[in-house]
Amino acid sequence: MLRQIKFLHYVLKSFLYNSFNSSLTLIETAFQPTLFCFDILIRILGPLFVVLVIGLTTVVVVLYYRLLVPRILTYGFIRSSCHLLYAHWLLVNICHQYYRAVCTEPGYPDEVIDIIVYLYLYKKLCSYQGIVAKPPRTHHCRICRRCIMKMDHHCPWVNNCVGRNNHRYFILFCVYMFLGTLYVSLSGYDLFLDQLYLQVYRSKLNLASEYETDQSSALFLGILCATVAFILLLFTGWHCFLISTNQTTIETYANKKKKKLLKKKGKRFRNKYDRGFVSNWRSVLGISRNDSFALLLWPKALPPIRDDYRTDYSNKLNGNFIVETVRSV
Ligand SMILES: [Zn+2]
Ligand SMILES: [Zn+2]
Repeated sequence: MLRQIKFLHYVLKSFLYNSFNSSLTLIETAFQPTLFCFDILIRILGPLFVVLVIGLTTVVVVLYYRLLVPRILTYGFIRSSCHLLYAHWLLVNICHQYYRAVCTEPGYPDEVIDIIVYLYLYKKLCSYQGIVAKPPRTHHCRICRRCIMKMDHHCPWVNNCVGRNNHRYFILFCVYMFLGTLYVSLSGYDLFLDQLYLQVYRSKLNLASEYETDQSSALFLGILCATVAFILLLFTGWHCFLISTNQTTIETYANKKKKKLLKKKGKRFRNKYDRGFVSNWRSVLGISRNDSFALLLWPKALPPIRDDYRTDYSNKLNGNFIVETVRSV
């Protein structure tokens, strides 16, 4: 009996053996059902997140007009004009970049006509979508249920994947939203402090009830804008670093592992997509060498310039396959 149990144990072990298995793989596998439910939840709640962003932005704009504009108008003509121009310039840009980030297709892989050549060069097909080609830097989004080129992450706040085609709008939305919330926080700083003071000593001062609404609104505006500005500062800072080094959020994990492995061997890791600080930004923002970065100051739709996948693919087809292979190793 004991021998039979041992035999069954070895049979089971040999069936389940995989050299890539690790404790991390086991944990990942155990969390798969939870992740599956989480993906479904994000997919269902996606439109609600968009409504929430639009709703909160509208509330901030209304409160800005109601509480801050009357104070700004007392600053004198030139100072109040600068305030209003800056605020409306930010608002127009926030609305435009958000609309584009939500509505622009993140970039789906092209249909590869010569599948044999493609497989010979890249050997990658989507395991979820069957025979859909998977160009370099492409990842499958389980929430969108599609492959996304140069996928960064799936963002519930825009109910869309951030990929090759809408990365520009996403980062510009984050930057303009950060500037907008920072502006409201700073321009209403003294008002928020006054209201906080009044809120604390309201009972002692015996104020009329009509002041209560304005107090709560001012506190809500101050806390909301300061919190969003702080979160966006960290989030946008991280994404600016990623763009500067031409990495996506997904790639950072793999690059970290490669870095560690190469360090052990005494070698230095080099990201093959990194073309230098300015070129990396130009490629994401869609600013060609002849254009100025001033194009970012007003709402404009621009496609990304460089296409790593197409450049690689055509280079390889033109006979540079060996050179490319050596470089990628
Ligand atoms: Zn896919
Ligand atoms: Zn997605």
